[in-house]
Amino acid sequence: MNFKKSQQAFSEAKRYIPGGVNSPVRAFKSVGLDPIFIEKAKGSKIFDIDGNCYIDYICSWGPLILGHSNDRIIKGIEEIFAKGTSYGVPTEIETSMAKKIVEAVPSVDKVRMVNSGTEATMSALRLARAYTNKNKIIKFGGCYHGHSDGLLVKSGSGTLTYGIPTSPGVNSTVIEDTIVCEYNNIDSVKKAFREYSNDIAAIIVEPVAGNMGVVEADLDFLKYLRDITNENKSLLIFDEVITGFRLAYGGAGEVYDIKPDITCFGKIIGGGLPVGAYGGKAEIMDMIAPLGPVYQAGTLSGNPLAMHMGYKTIEILEENPKIYEELERKAVKLEEGFKEHIASLDIKATVNRVKGMLCLFMGEGPMDSYDQVMKSDTDKYSIFFREMLNRGILFPPAQFEGLFLSTEHSDEDIEKTLEFAYEALKIAYN
Ligand code: PLP
Repeated sequence: MNFKKSQQAFSEAKRYIPGGVNSPVRAFKSVGLDPIFIEKAKGSKIFDIDGNCYIDYICSWGPLILGHSNDRIIKGIEEIFAKGTSYGVPTEIETSMAKKIVEAVPSVDKVRMVNSGTEATMSALRLARAYTNKNKIIKFGGCYHGHSDGLLVKSGSGTLTYGIPTSPGVNSTVIEDTIVCEYNNIDSVKKAFREYSNDIAAIIVEPVAGNMGVVEADLDFLKYLRDITNENKSLLIFDEVITGFRLAYGGAGEVYDIKPDITCFGKIIGGGLPVGAYGGKAEIMDMIAPLGPVYQAGTLSGNPLAMHMGYKTIEILEENPKIYEELERKAVKLEEGFKEHIASLDIKATVNRVKGMLCLFMGEGPMDSYDQVMKSDTDKYSIFFREMLNRGILFPPAQFEGLFLSTEHSDEDIEKTLEFAYEALKIAYN
C-alpha cells in the first residue's frame, strides 16, 4: 500500500498543528506509523487521500453506529443549512431531542445539551457538587471522562496510550478533590467512603469501561456503587458517552437495570457532529441556570444541524430495535473468530466483549481490571495494527481502545477481517 500523500499531508500538518493532529490518538504514534489522512467514507468503508480503502473499526470513535455518511440521517440537512446554522435562541428540535433522550433513558427526567462528552462530564460534576454541597468525587483508574482538569487523573484512552494519565498543567489543588479508586474493586470504594464519607459529592463511572480496551463492570460492583452513594447522600454519575444508545437503546442503565442520578452522553447522540448532554432527576437538573444557581452555558449548544443528525440517528435506533441484536451478533462473530485464531496459534491474547462492544488484547486474561489490561503487549499490538492496515483493515491505532461496529459492517467485512487477523496475529507473535 502506498501512503505517500498521507505522509506529505502529515508533514504539512505538523508545521501548523501541534503534533499534526487535533486529538492525540490520531497521530498513530503508539503504533509507530504516520497517520493516514482521510478523503471520504461511506458505510463501513473509509478511503484515504492515497486512494486506499479500509474496513473501518474506528467509526469516529463511536458516534457512527449507523456507519459513515448514512443517507437517512443526512437527508434533510441541506434544508436546515438553507434556513440557518445557529441562532442563539431556542429551536423546537432541541425539545424533540431532549424528549427522545428522556423517553429512552428512564433515569433521565430532564437533559441539557452541550458540545462534547468532556463538557457533559465536567458540567455533571459541577452540578453534583452543588446539589450535594460536597467537594470530592470518585473516579476509577483507566476510565476516561474527557479532558477537564479534575477528571484528568489516572485516566484512560489516549492518556494511557501516551503514558500521561495525569497531565502537567492540571493544578494540584484541582485534583486533590479527585479520589481514584480501582475499577471492579468494591474494597477500594469502601475505603474512600470510610475516609471521606461526608465529603463525597459523586462517583463517576463508565458502566462498561471503553477507554482501557473494553472491560465489563461486575454487576455487584455497579450495584454497590448505587447503594453506597444512596447511603451517603452522594450522587452516582454514569458516563455513557460511549455506551449510551450503543449497548442498548436505553444504554448501560437499561442493560444493568441501575438508575444513576445523572447520565452523561455524547458520540451517538450527535450522529457525527459535535454534541454531548447530561441529564438526570428533575430535582437535580432544575438546579442549573436559569432555574437554579449552577451556571453552565454554550454558544453552540443544541445547534440545529447537530440536533438533526443526532435526532435522526436516535429515531432510526428506536424504530429498529433489531439493530442491537445485529450489532451483538457481529461482535460475537468477531469474538469467536479471534478466539479460534488465539487457540490455533496458541498465543497469549484475550478478547473481551460486552454486547456489541469488543476489544482484542495482546496479553493473557482475564482482562478485568486496569492492572491486568496494562500488562498487554503494546509492541505486539503495533505490529498487529500495521499488518491489518496494510491489508485494508483500520483498527484503533492504540491497544487501549475498543472496536466500534456499525449497522453497515457486513458479514463479508467481518469474514475478511478475521481472515487477515489470523495472518496479522501470526506475524505479531512470531
Ligand atoms: N467520556 C467517555 C466515556 C469517553 O469515551 C469520552 C471520549 O472518548 C469522553 C467522555 C469525552 O468526550 P469528548 O471526546 O466528546 O469530549
